[in-house]
Amino acid sequence: MTINPSGWRPEQSAANDSADSPTFTGNRALMLEEPLIFEIGSTATTGIDFEDVPAGGNRLGGLERTAPIGCYGLSEPETVRHFTRLSRQNYAIDLGLFPLGSCTMKHNPRINEKMARLPGFADIHPLQPAETVQGAFAVIHLVGEWLTRLTGMAAVAMSPKAGAHGELCGLLAIRSALEARGDARRVVLVPESAHGTNPATAAFCGYAVETIPATGAGRVDRAALEARLGPDVAAVMITNPNTCGLFEPELKAIADAVHAAGALVYCDGANFNAIVGKVRPGDLGVDAMHINLHKTFSTPHGGGGPGSGPVVFSEALAPFAPLPFVEKQGDLYVLIEEETAGEHHGQSFGRMAAFHGQMGMFTRAASYMLSHGADGLKQVAEDAVLNANYVLRSLEDLLDAPFATSGPCMHEALFTDEGLSGGISTLDIAKGLIDEGYHPMTVYFPLVVHGAMLIEPTETESKASLDQFIGALRSVAERARAGDASLKAAPVHAPRHRLDETAAARKPVLTWKDSAEAAE
Ligand SMILES: *Cc1c(COP(=O)(O)O)cnc(C)c1O
Repeated sequence: MTINPSGWRPEQSAANDSADSPTFTGNRALMLEEPLIFEIGSTATTGIDFEDVPAGGNRLGGLERTAPIGCYGLSEPETVRHFTRLSRQNYAIDLGLFPLGSCTMKHNPRINEKMARLPGFADIHPLQPAETVQGAFAVIHLVGEWLTRLTGMAAVAMSPKAGAHGELCGLLAIRSALEARGDARRVVLVPESAHGTNPATAAFCGYAVETIPATGAGRVDRAALEARLGPDVAAVMITNPNTCGLFEPELKAIADAVHAAGALVYCDGANFNAIVGKVRPGDLGVDAMHINLHKTFSTPHGGGGPGSGPVVFSEALAPFAPLPFVEKQGDLYVLIEEETAGEHHGQSFGRMAAFHGQMGMFTRAASYMLSHGADGLKQVAEDAVLNANYVLRSLEDLLDAPFATSGPCMHEALFTDEGLSGGISTLDIAKGLIDEGYHPMTVYFPLVVHGAMLIEPTETESKASLDQFIGALRSVAERARAGDASLKAAPVHAPRHRLDETAAARKPVLTWKDSAEAAE
């Protein structure tokens, strides 16, 4: 393959544009082709001019770089265009419905962004004296108050930086509590329907993970779980609502049995948007639960961050919560740290992060909570559940819905690829949705059903946008039921067609050298 200096590659453009006649540039009006940076840039080009370093003029003591670093560069305007063009080939919640199950890709109100950018919140430093950042402490405290009240729990740790980090925080508190009573247990029970981060977290904490099966109705098998309880079990981790999109109605009974056996209950509360304002996990016997602020309480996410996973604790675990945290003493917000923990918080297991957590997300969450109010948050849960049930009932005649008779779903609708013709599977339906201009749903998860398609429409979609999505998915599902072989080639309208996903994972093209090898 020849690549000319301007990056124009007629072969590639033609290959990706078999349906239409190729243009000189490979562009199709506003759909702009864009080669990779090492195909159009050069190691000698940069958008910045640096002065030459005078000989012997640095203080690196022999550690200075002696050979060029070899990064491909462009001029400043070319750099801006390169990344802007690439970004236009991406999908985003601001472009359309994002049905990714469990991820809660919902609209993020712009007022939150405006608040987070206020200089008094955005331009401060965690090492500033407490008296100069009282407003920021007030926001952290306010969000913590809302979280403990909404969940009916005794304490909150604000510092964990994602859902999975919150799980780690919760299990570290559980481990500390068990060790404090001289009862170091070794096993954590995780139902089959749990999110994958749950067993990973337990293993990371040094626990042996044992799986508890799901019932045919998509819920945790309570009898199997209770039969396994014993003096070696430290905790049970339950996702509620679970990853089949169902509420676990027996959680209270399970928690009672777990407590009677001397163990603790961790609840994965990442999908709290389905129950916020309706159920308080504290009333169900939960000892620790993380909440994904970036899902339920609205921060843009999905592009690699940021995340924020505060953890709420029961009375039993509160003394072990991590430092630092903000406490209100009279009119002042005071930071409780190692030096100030005193007797009351002396059992804290340590820190999850250097400082307080994701300040920008606390401001967004505070703005979201205050603009919705308690009644608005309750409506969030009602709308999330209503929208998911609308999707479930609008598609169950065409797509296998294994738990459609298990009662209403919660925030997401689960389908499988059973009953399709011509070897068409979940993957082909997902790729067909790309041609319809949608990001695919979550596929092949949860593992408890074969060929899963997990759809979370979220509470922020209107009926009109749900109807359009349902129409698109019905059209793809009808083709799949009829065994339409062209679905196996989808997507055909996207900038890139069906990828060899194994080769993409095993032989990623990340450098000029890879690209030259791939072209051979
Ligand atoms: C998203 C999610 C997690 C993990 O949260 P991160 O912020 O991505 O670490 C854990 N459990 C469930 C059920 C989730 O949906």
